[in-house]
Amino acid sequence: MTDFSPVDMTLDGAEAAGGRLTVDLSAIARNYQYLAGLAPTAETAAAVKAGAYGLGLKPVVTVLSNCGCRTFFVALPQEGAELRRIVPHAEIFVLAGLAPGNIDLFLRDNLTPVLNSLTDVALWAEAGPANAPFALHVDTGMNRLGLAVEDLASVSQLKPRMVLSHFACADEPDHPLNNQQLAAFREVQILFPDAVASLANSAGILNGSDCHFDLTRPGIALYGGGAISSASNPMLPVVKLEGQIVQIRHIKQGRSIGYGATHKFSNNARVAIVAVGYADGYLRAASGSGTPLRPSSKGGYGKIKDTRVPVVGRISMDLTAFDITAFPDNAVCQGEWITLLDNEITVDDLAQCAGTIGYEILTSLGRRYARTYING
Ligand SMILES: *Cc1c(COP(=O)(O)O)cnc(C)c1O
Repeated sequence: MTDFSPVDMTLDGAEAAGGRLTVDLSAIARNYQYLAGLAPTAETAAAVKAGAYGLGLKPVVTVLSNCGCRTFFVALPQEGAELRRIVPHAEIFVLAGLAPGNIDLFLRDNLTPVLNSLTDVALWAEAGPANAPFALHVDTGMNRLGLAVEDLASVSQLKPRMVLSHFACADEPDHPLNNQQLAAFREVQILFPDAVASLANSAGILNGSDCHFDLTRPGIALYGGGAISSASNPMLPVVKLEGQIVQIRHIKQGRSIGYGATHKFSNNARVAIVAVGYADGYLRAASGSGTPLRPSSKGGYGKIKDTRVPVVGRISMDLTAFDITAFPDNAVCQGEWITLLDNEITVDDLAQCAGTIGYEILTSLGRRYARTYING
């Protein structure tokens, strides 16, 4: 069978990798405690889908468990099965993926399905054991997953462990849909008074106590990402990413660099070629000056010895070029490391350069990076 698993870093360690990623587990712990403190009357669960947003399911869940987190949300039953091995006693909600062929997986690993439609409800009623816990997801305006509010009359006899709904626009606190969803969810809560009521993701927690209900489901804020687009981000950054310089090039005025020859140097320049590229999740959309991939693209940047150095030309699969002309000759050498993400270049900063969101930067973090977990 084809092996798509990550490169085995235990072979040669970080020096053999083009990029090294450091995850600060104590920052995740403090972010969890901060969010729990904002919603003291609610239980604080954690969204750990997609391998804890790309940071690594096992180390992240272990630290969250140690903080007292006992309820986790994953996207798919396969993620639930992996998570069950890490937290034998936690409650694991699987947000989607119930199918006629996989109910036994839910039972084997004691995973609680989130029922998203009348079809799901019928499936679970037919094949799920009597009295096995389940959650009901009610759509209050997102129009993605969830039973329509109008469908609830036909399931009012059910006894869900939890009723949940999901905000479409919580990252924009003033968006009118937020209050509409909140009002709709209050009606849902009245229909199922015995169920745990859960509405807030990270942004919902930060938006205030109206949204907190019985249980919150933060994801991005645990991992240091900004949940609310307009506000300053109160969370501690969690990741540091560095790339190794594999070559220093001197480039003559008038020459270009990289695929498409998009960037032409107007003066003699020096460039550091770094062994991180879009295959590592250093997104091509963050390509630098020259012919932008998108009209609004600013291009990414890194940091060497506290000096900001811009990406020049197109980011390629395994390599990215940074303009280091600002440094004296020989001040930066092959084999040194350039900072690509840290406290000052946040996932949201890089996301903005690539025209995306911090969630996509985190969940794209590459499998080739040498990963180190600190302060566990
Ligand atoms: C991913 C997810 C969350 C967490 O959202 P964040 O914006 O990352 O805090 C919460 N609830 C549901 C249903 C989700 O899919």
